[in-house]
Amino acid sequence: MVTGWLGPWITSSRVLGSGAGYRPRVNSSRDLDQTVALVTGASSGIGQAAAKALAERGATVALVARRADRLEQLGSEIADAGGTALPIEADVSDRAQATAAVARAVEELGRLDVLVNNAGVMLLGPILDAPVDEWEQMVQVNLLGLLYTAHAALPHLLKAAEGNPRRVADLVNISSVAGRMARKGSGVYNATKHGVGAFSESLRQEVTGRHLRVSLVEPGAVATELQSHNRPEVRDQIEKRFEEMDILQAEDIADAIAYVVTRPRHVAINEVLVRPTQQEQ
Ligand code: NDP
Repeated sequence: MVTGWLGPWITSSRVLGSGAGYRPRVNSSRDLDQTVALVTGASSGIGQAAAKALAERGATVALVARRADRLEQLGSEIADAGGTALPIEADVSDRAQATAAVARAVEELGRLDVLVNNAGVMLLGPILDAPVDEWEQMVQVNLLGLLYTAHAALPHLLKAAEGNPRRVADLVNISSVAGRMARKGSGVYNATKHGVGAFSESLRQEVTGRHLRVSLVEPGAVATELQSHNRPEVRDQIEKRFEEMDILQAEDIADAIAYVVTRPRHVAINEVLVRPTQQEQ
């Protein structure tokens, strides 16, 4: 049911599945029953796995990204497993679209208990002679997109934290090992992810007293589409760095996200750094 005009980028209303008769496939834990989660970057990789993990724990999930076909497919998979999902096509680097995506999720699903701010791009290479449009894209998605979405979601998360069923809410920002330490060849990606860390800690101090937990999840190397958007020479170098390594799967990070948002009300997991065992830096 679309009850308001939210812009031309919003696809027609399409809540997939119904919460009734839900049968979890993997987890017996239903800690997120009667809650609503919004995951940005849900069309692939970590966001897709996180959306499934939250749906398996009982959350109704709003799926946000630009590739609408992928979101529809994921929504159907969640519905087939007995969950409920709402695909929302949006470019989070556009403030109006990020704001409208959050508004639509709340309007159609009634509330917002969990935001996973996951959408991101990683375009690596030396700073000298770098294509500056790659820097702009990373700042626009990794930083501004995350800020716009958080800004729009905050009033709803704070409201959810005041009431049942959990009397606590969660905002999870996906940073990276690159948000902890800088490396040669990833300067601007480092800058965006360090920015995510700084913003998260400041916001955490601002809202944690109101039972809105702000958490930072920092993955090491994960097998996703992330590196595929790099220039070929950069992609080769990334592949070489990890070719001998048993790297993480998106589900490994989804597990961490699910853990963070299913702690008891008095427990806040502020920061989680997850590397493949063999990753040294
Ligand atoms: P993917 O490339 O598989 O996923 C990135 C997601 O972000 C996609 O769903 C993409 O959807 C979405 N996205 C990109 N730009 C936009 C935009 N402008 N508006 C909305 N959505 C957007 O990579 P990962 O799953 O690996 O990345 C997820 C997060 O994890 C990122 O923040 C990344 O920095 C972080 N991370 C990943 C690591 C890894 O090794 N893979 C390591 C450390 C951190 P679409 O294109 O459909 O819009």
